[in-house]
Amino acid sequence: MPLSGGASVQNAMQLEPNKPNGWRIPFNNHEGGCGAAMRAMCIGLRFPHDSQLSVLIQLSIESGRMTHHHPTGYLGALASALFTAYAVNGKPPHQWGKGLMEVLPEAKKYIVQSGYFVEENLQNWSYFQNQWEKYLKLRGILDGKSAPTFPQPFSVKQRDQFYHALSYSGWGGSSGHDAPMIAYDAILAAGDSWKELAHRAFFHGGDSDSTAAIAGCWWGVMHGFKGVSSSNYENLEYRHRLEETARALYSLGSEEDAVTSL
Ligand code: ADP
Repeated sequence: MPLSGGASVQNAMQLEPNKPNGWRIPFNNHEGGCGAAMRAMCIGLRFPHDSQLSVLIQLSIESGRMTHHHPTGYLGALASALFTAYAVNGKPPHQWGKGLMEVLPEAKKYIVQSGYFVEENLQNWSYFQNQWEKYLKLRGILDGKSAPTFPQPFSVKQRDQFYHALSYSGWGGSSGHDAPMIAYDAILAAGDSWKELAHRAFFHGGDSDSTAAIAGCWWGVMHGFKGVSSSNYENLEYRHRLEETARALYSLGSEEDAVTSL
């Protein structure tokens, strides 16, 4: 599949950044796709510190709903950004899910405060939250303390069935809730094995490039290129631009933390 989906492309083309409020689009029931989640990891790199949490929440929601004005879409952006911040801070992955559950009420408060399509957003809020709660319970990590448990066996076929079962309409990883969820499931199981991460997050019958992009980013923050074949990145188009941008975002975030902790 192409990297950018329908909602991302069509809505980005309609944005009018030079007009007041031209960056905002109305609520839409069909904008729960994963396009916003796939591009939000950089927000966690730029605003990784506890003191920056409210900025991370607002920015992931508002940049997410520039193309995906549905909670399932933009809360996916929040999850991608938040888990990147957790990875920067060295928070152990089995604690990330509980963290997300604790941040969701803050995100809801922001939606109410923002005063923009509040009713529609609140009416459609529960799907993302319920799906995540169900998933975290299934893995036994809703408490943020226990180690995750996986079915035995959990090989290619069982994983594909599981990803399908998580999905909104049969395409695992294509929505805002299940793209970060499948990436997270892979991170939880992979330990420090890039190969295991690849099997679980990159090679499956669902929206695999979306789950791969998110999982690969979290991996990079935690482990750099550990285990990654150099043929996967040595001649990557725009590699140096991407690396410079990521470094610049990260160092901006670090500098601000140094100032606020003085
Ligand atoms: P994107 O830009 O997010 O890739 P698409 O328009 O291609 O957008 O949509 C991707 C997926 O989002 C589709 O598989 C669709 O089923 C799913 N989707 C659309 N609306 C919702 C929704 N309200 N909740 C969950 N998933 C949704």
